[in-house]
Amino acid sequence: MDLGAIVTRIGADMAAMQDRGRVADYIPQLGGVDPDQFGMAVVTKDGETYLTGDALIPFSIQSVSKVFTLAIALGRLGEALWKRVGVEPSGHAFNSILQLETEAGIPRNPFINAGALVVTDSILAGHAPRETLGEILRFVRMSAGDDDIHIKQSVARTGEETGHLNRALAHFMTSHGRLQNPVDLTCGTYFHQCAIEMNCLQLARAGRFLMGPSKDAPSLVSAQKIRRINALMMTCGHYDGSGEFAFRVGLPGKSGVGGGILAIVPNTAVVAVWSPGLNTRGNSQLGTLAMERLAHATGWSVYG
Ligand code: GLU
Repeated sequence: MDLGAIVTRIGADMAAMQDRGRVADYIPQLGGVDPDQFGMAVVTKDGETYLTGDALIPFSIQSVSKVFTLAIALGRLGEALWKRVGVEPSGHAFNSILQLETEAGIPRNPFINAGALVVTDSILAGHAPRETLGEILRFVRMSAGDDDIHIKQSVARTGEETGHLNRALAHFMTSHGRLQNPVDLTCGTYFHQCAIEMNCLQLARAGRFLMGPSKDAPSLVSAQKIRRINALMMTCGHYDGSGEFAFRVGLPGKSGVGGGILAIVPNTAVVAVWSPGLNTRGNSQLGTLAMERLAHATGWSVYG
């Protein structure tokens, strides 16, 4: 299999696409991003790297950050985390408050916003947001083997200014006794973790710990935790579009409204893809299509 040729062809095909989806504009700093961009990076278990398109242009990872905070929280709390957040797909939008009301303020899973706020709250536990953000950045930089990964303050600020729904989710959970820190601290930390910027190469490298042991990558979590995180990425990583991603791509993946997707091919490779235009469910339109083509061309799937 000529992986380099496959990746290059996908990059060329995506560059020619007309229908690129719609860039998220509810966070104003994201609305101005040029929708014509597309990048992809594949890093294999043996450390081979394949790039195409805008793979070296940094973008806002947004909800892809939830994978890293989940890994940190699982390391810290272990199985006790599952008392605070569930492991079921929600079938609802990323920021929905609907199920929280009928389910006593316990979020369905760690990847919808409510669940991610609980995860961030759990690692904040008594620390200043600055310390926790330092810990998140340390984790991401170590997993990527790259210190040049930062938070874009202007994106964090606009996330903060427009984050009423996230604060509403946090207040609702606090009223049920589900958060341990003041809403402003948990939400402030969350807005900043979402504002981490990476390019496709950095993100793929940062995700290596989820494919299992691989050349040059630090082993950051146990095999059991890797399985759990991958299972949640598969069932919940694309919100109410998770079934469709599993059906079309067949790999665990986590999307963000910045247009990034991190996908894992267990024991084989990790893929980061980015294109800012989103489909109706808030997942990268070309990113999903590119992942589908990559999975088809390589035969990569967790389903056989
Ligand atoms: N910062 C975004 C929000 O909380 C993240 C959502 C996403 O990437 O899906 O609204």
